[in-house]
Amino acid sequence: MEKILSIHGISKKYGRIQAVNGLFIEIYKGQVFGLLGPNGSGKTTTLSILLDLVRNDSGTFEWFGKPPSKESRKRIGSVIENPNFFPYLTAVKNLQIVADIKDKPYDDLDEVLQLTGLYDRRNDRFRTYSFGMKQRLAVASALLGNPDVLILDEPTNGLDPQGIAKMRELIKRVAEKGITIILASHLLDEVQKICSHVAVLSKGKKLFDGEVSDVLAISELLEIAADDMIQLEKAISMHPGFSSLVRSEDRWLVYFKGKIVPAEVNEFLHRQGIVLTHLSERKRTLEQHFLELLRDNS
Ligand code: ATP
Repeated sequence: MEKILSIHGISKKYGRIQAVNGLFIEIYKGQVFGLLGPNGSGKTTTLSILLDLVRNDSGTFEWFGKPPSKESRKRIGSVIENPNFFPYLTAVKNLQIVADIKDKPYDDLDEVLQLTGLYDRRNDRFRTYSFGMKQRLAVASALLGNPDVLILDEPTNGLDPQGIAKMRELIKRVAEKGITIILASHLLDEVQKICSHVAVLSKGKKLFDGEVSDVLAISELLEIAADDMIQLEKAISMHPGFSSLVRSEDRWLVYFKGKIVPAEVNEFLHRQGIVLTHLSERKRTLEQHFLELLRDNS
């Protein structure tokens, strides 16, 4: 798989505040990568460093396998701050101005307007747009010139539910075009709904990263039962990964120290002469992980 971005231990301090603290991240083509963390966890600073808007104190990063350059910058579209367009000009005129500044042709104007759902309103003035439409026009302008990567900072902030739904749809459509997306968000639910991969940040540090589906599937908790629950308790507490257990009605809820494979636990018990009458996994949600990780780090 083609590597789009490698971040090697970048750090940034503002006075005494360590905004980014030794961050390592790798992002591959086609991923929708979420930087997830509470306010002040360093997401915007990280994105700003990656876009050369802020200089990092230490560490390095590579875009498309090379040190950042003017060439690599041209392959990246971004929406980091509130959109700044001319209020009395139409969407088309505003996009033409952006295309002129970026030195891009007007060829893909219609396509980005269609993609962002603004085509029918393309000849209306910017000031008549709803907040959601303004945000989508910012995405349209970032997509001019067909970038390989789209960077978005809190793309649904301030939007109403309909605006949020439209922005999420748009992000999905952009991803379907094969454009790699990197977005910062403090909303777990958002990351769960639109991202394929996630890195959880707290106080400028990465606490955890992985595939969103993996994170959702992490299971360290099993529910088990057998005819002889006392014998089962003794046997399961001998398992090398065993951590603790609690009784829940006619079952044991068993906590393990790390990731476990239910079939392996079943086999382990079977070798000790126990036939399980019940075995099921309790999946922890990313939310539980997120909260635990933040608690552990505070
Ligand atoms: P938010 O979503 O609230 O913007 P964030 O996760 O994007 O949060 P950053 O904006 O990167 O976090 O901020 C990280 C830390 O750095 C915070 O403590 C913030 O106050 C501080 N910080 C950010 N920019 C500056 C600046 N220009 N000068 C001083 N401190 C800053």
